[in-house]
Amino acid sequence: MADYDFDLFVIGAGSGGVRASRMSASYGARVAIAEERFLGGTCVNVGCIPKKLFSYGAHYAEDADDAAAYGWSFGQPDLHWPTLIENKNREITRLNGIYRNILESNGVTLFEARATLVDAHTLDVGGERVTAETILIAVGGKPQVPSIPGGEHAIVSDDAFYLEERPDRVIVVGGGYIAVEFASIFSGYGAETTLVYRRDLFLRGFDIDVRRHLAGQMADKGIDLVWNEVVDRIEATDDGLRATLGSGEVRAADQVMYAIGRTPNTANIGLEEAGVGLTPGGAVIVDDYFRTSVDNIYALGDIIDRYQLTPVAIGEAMKLASNLYNGTRLAMDYADIPTAVFSNPPIGTVGLTEEDARARHGDVVVYRSEFRPLRHTLTGSGERTMMKLIVDRASDRVVGCHMVGPDAGEIIQGIAIALKCGATKAQFDATVGIHPTAAEELVTMREPVAAT
Ligand code: NDP
Repeated sequence: MADYDFDLFVIGAGSGGVRASRMSASYGARVAIAEERFLGGTCVNVGCIPKKLFSYGAHYAEDADDAAAYGWSFGQPDLHWPTLIENKNREITRLNGIYRNILESNGVTLFEARATLVDAHTLDVGGERVTAETILIAVGGKPQVPSIPGGEHAIVSDDAFYLEERPDRVIVVGGGYIAVEFASIFSGYGAETTLVYRRDLFLRGFDIDVRRHLAGQMADKGIDLVWNEVVDRIEATDDGLRATLGSGEVRAADQVMYAIGRTPNTANIGLEEAGVGLTPGGAVIVDDYFRTSVDNIYALGDIIDRYQLTPVAIGEAMKLASNLYNGTRLAMDYADIPTAVFSNPPIGTVGLTEEDARARHGDVVVYRSEFRPLRHTLTGSGERTMMKLIVDRASDRVVGCHMVGPDAGEIIQGIAIALKCGATKAQFDATVGIHPTAAEELVTMREPVAAT
């Protein structure tokens, strides 16, 4: 057998790459990992973590307003944006250190350099030749930049995390997770915010009631939602930016942020040369066990473009490490993956949308509830929470659960366990609620929505 420098060489120290390395090392493999940018990848540095911190921060002005009804008065809210960026950066640096420790304490050799494939077993790592029996590609993706006139004036989410000042006027282009989350963040921080989406309602693929409800809530909070529109060109002026929409309408802004999906980082790392098959969009093609078209090369996480979610990449990494070095043959179970969108209010969702449930199960029973959260009975805020259960009539199984409202992500995580266990509506009904919470509504909905 050939004598390689390492059993496993991982390219990319993001959520998936780090987990695969440390699990493989824990099974006894000799592992190395290369990272050219930052330890922890997108999630830790320019994704989930800083986004959630921004999202927390974006609530304070609204909370301070609400507090008045509870007897509190504060002075005029005053934002010092650089404090947010500085504190967030400090936390990210701390997390980078934790990732470094995880790798070191598990005996993983870290190369802080760009790694490219020379052939199926050889890598160029910052100019050094390194060989490995098995190679894992976990290099993630990056935000797309628009190819429109003046596109160079636009920012993407990576940039938004490092803005020196809070823009007063922001246009966010896109209708997915990132666009919706950042529109809520900028608006919460007091920016005049417009969201421009190319179709008639954002969050395509989410349940229709979720999409409609969130759109109503965001509009009520003062976000200008512009449907069926695109930005055609952007010009820099003495007073910031001028964005010309498809209709010819011109809007002024301090920042135009694009959030129109992420592209896999597969360019120029020698994948084609090594014979690794890619989709037309550049994602790595893998089988159920994350093997690429080259026998000893694997890929997982955002780069395989199944679900661009950290917990999915981690789950895939755990399966792969176990399969490679622990004698198992496990595939990832992609059914009923719960997810949250940290908009204001947030979305939590698991299982099928009503539309997909009807297509798959035919006869479904839908329960829907919309109410003013108890907290707002005093504040006078018009914010409303929406919850929805979708039940397969034949089996009585709850096949979808969707929520828009405070703590939706926290609540739906628990419901996701129930769905994974195959819980029926009768079992939801038999569950005692926790009073007074919003979540109790999920076990007390009795009247189905009239069939349409
Ligand atoms: P998404 O794939 O979620 O959404 C892309 C959006 O951009 C869609 O609304 C799409 O419209 C629109 N779009 C695509 N191309 C264009 C174009 N050329 N012009 C105008 N609009 C366009 O991508 P995001 O960038 O928001 O996020 C990437 C991924 O990251 C997400 O899918 C998610 O998996 C992950 N993520 C998860 C988060 C979480 O778990 N909370 C948070 C943030 C990101 P259309 O609907 O018409 O295709």
